[in-house]
Amino acid sequence: MSTEQHTFTAEVRELLNLMVHSLYSQKDIFLRELISNSSDALDRLRVEALSDTTLMPEGELEIRLEVDTDARTLSISDTGIGMSREQVVSDIGTIARSGSREFLAALKEKQRAEESDTGAASADLIGQFGVGFYSTFMVADRVTLTTRRAGTDTGVQWESTGDGTYTLGDADRPHPGTTVTLHLKPADEEDGLRDYTDTAVLTEIVKKHSDFVAHPIRMKVERQEPLLDNTGIPVKGVLPKTVVKDETLNSMKAIWTRSRGDVTDDEYHQFYRHVGQDWQDPVVIIPAAMEGAFNARILLFIPAKAPFDLYHRERISKGVQLYVKRVHIMDDWKALLPEWLRFLKGVIDCEDLSLNVSREILQHDRQVKAIRTFAIKKTLDAIDRLRKDKPDAMRTLWREFGAVLKEGLAAGDDYRDRLLELLLASTTYGDEPTSLADYLGRMPKDQAHIYYLGGSSLEAVRNSPHLESFKRKGVEVLFFTDPVDEFWLERDVSYKDKTFVSVSKGEIDLGKDDTAEASDADTDKTDDNSLDGLLQTLRSLLQDDVKDVRLSGRLTDSPACLVGDKDDLSPQLEQMMRQLGQSAPKTKRILEINPNHAFVVRLGAIHAVDAKAPELTIYAQLLHGQAILAEGGELPDPGAYSRVVMEVAQLAVGASSTPVAPEAAPEPNAEASPELGSESAAEPEPTATPAGDAETGGSPDGNAS
Ligand code: ADP
Repeated sequence: MSTEQHTFTAEVRELLNLMVHSLYSQKDIFLRELISNSSDALDRLRVEALSDTTLMPEGELEIRLEVDTDARTLSISDTGIGMSREQVVSDIGTIARSGSREFLAALKEKQRAEESDTGAASADLIGQFGVGFYSTFMVADRVTLTTRRAGTDTGVQWESTGDGTYTLGDADRPHPGTTVTLHLKPADEEDGLRDYTDTAVLTEIVKKHSDFVAHPIRMKVERQEPLLDNTGIPVKGVLPKTVVKDETLNSMKAIWTRSRGDVTDDEYHQFYRHVGQDWQDPVVIIPAAMEGAFNARILLFIPAKAPFDLYHRERISKGVQLYVKRVHIMDDWKALLPEWLRFLKGVIDCEDLSLNVSREILQHDRQVKAIRTFAIKKTLDAIDRLRKDKPDAMRTLWREFGAVLKEGLAAGDDYRDRLLELLLASTTYGDEPTSLADYLGRMPKDQAHIYYLGGSSLEAVRNSPHLESFKRKGVEVLFFTDPVDEFWLERDVSYKDKTFVSVSKGEIDLGKDDTAEASDADTDKTDDNSLDGLLQTLRSLLQDDVKDVRLSGRLTDSPACLVGDKDDLSPQLEQMMRQLGQSAPKTKRILEINPNHAFVVRLGAIHAVDAKAPELTIYAQLLHGQAILAEGGELPDPGAYSRVVMEVAQLAVGASSTPVAPEAAPEPNAEASPELGSESAAEPEPTATPAGDAETGGSPDGNAS
């Protein structure tokens, strides 16, 4: 096939433009990116060759660097899986890699924020993300790639100057694998552009960034060697000879096989950058060896920040990789770790599995189960140590991954106690989140429960009326506002024999004296029994909205709040189930009113004079709506509620006459505004009547829900 010209996708053009004009000073990373691609290609070949041995090359699996100082080229070759023509078009012509997408997104974000020019904004971001193959255009003004897919006999040549187009043609390649040849830009130390034809420079870069790559990285290196005599001593007076030797530049030592004491943090961080594709150092490093019936080594990392796709169904960022006897087998296989540890990165290397282990076998393998248990235990131990030794780092970890760890609480009982030990929750006690152990440490001996309040956001729950008597009595309440909280709290969880009790469910008994205390503080005291009639009327006025109206033991300042029965679904859970497409019946809640609140006391008095007083209808709607708003809930019909508020406001300023009973109110419109009163009374508009319902009275849309 003749050579054809293609155009890059818009995303790639954007990325290329950045690379060509990059101001980023650490240009050396291009080599790490190419070596990493080659190493992946060798891994893939090895896995495919397990089922088709003809794919295995005659020579070794290796990565080779070659320089031509005259032509100023550097080639990186591998004997790996190679690419077909289609793969070259799809893999090199578009952005396959998550890092690149993330990079572009971050770049756009940054540009928007700073309105800076492309070069300046890209400089530090390139180093943070490492953007794969395209980083070659930081150091080369032309890149040629020849490749041949293992198992096929035609080679492909791809070439580009990074100007938006590339050419594709046939290549004469005797063996499968890939060679990337960089036509280097002139060295410019000031610009971070070193002489990449200098073998000493290349050796240094490989040692620094790719020492742990599991395949040999070889290069012909020129050395001056003295002539030695029989005893191995240099012969005097003879000039050293120039010899060219093939050298392996990397130690290939799998870092996870070395014990903790033999590896520096810097080495761990370098390795993490390689396996984790992350630019920030990890917060926790978990190296461990499992010995006994089964043998395995793990080296896991907890990143500093949650990846952008932590909650995406299809995650693309790399997770934990499975190795067997130091050979890479697969990426991110679910059998290795539970979903609630999906933020971990690193390596699990099993000693006793077969190299061609399949996913199906993995799922049921006893050894894999044992290793999984081991890895979970080691991870929880490491987080526990962080909790004890570095509370600040623990809080950061919990902020990033706490919601994912809590999925483990919802998933079952196996790790519940351990996870509860690690759990942090915001609290009425202070600004910092607290552990459950600290909560228990602060609470009075006779407190039977761990009190909590769930909700959609911290802001909403902090000011919720449900907390009033708890605050008054000094009883600490925890806040749970992650969506996952609704799921695990549903499961009757307890910690050290203390059950979790929602302050917005059931009847709360904080001890006799507390309501007494609260009442004493109020001058507007009332006899609870005298409110029986009012409760009865409110029940009937609000029958479409709530299942009961009762007096509250938990309010001190607010007139009313909404609560659920102990086993009711919370409104958040209901909403979530609906969002997930599950049917969730609308659970009616209970309206609790505060018998000591002046407003309620006044309602009692109005009711005592006239149990059918028409304004009670509006006040009932007002109480119900404000109870929803006070807990940060959503009004079912905000328009109707705002009309209720307006009517009350008009009553308050005397702008409206007291509403009349529904039967006697043929024209509510006429009452809405006294200014318009005479006109509208003179010319009523029957069609504009908003409140058609005679049962619940004069409030327009009063019982909409
Ligand atoms: P990444 O390696 O993160 O996917 P790159 O832009 O570096 O991103 O490479 C894009 C894709 O091109 C790779 O995923 C791989 O499929 C293919 N590729 C790159 N280099 C090689 C190589 N040496 N051998 C085989 N395939 C390669």
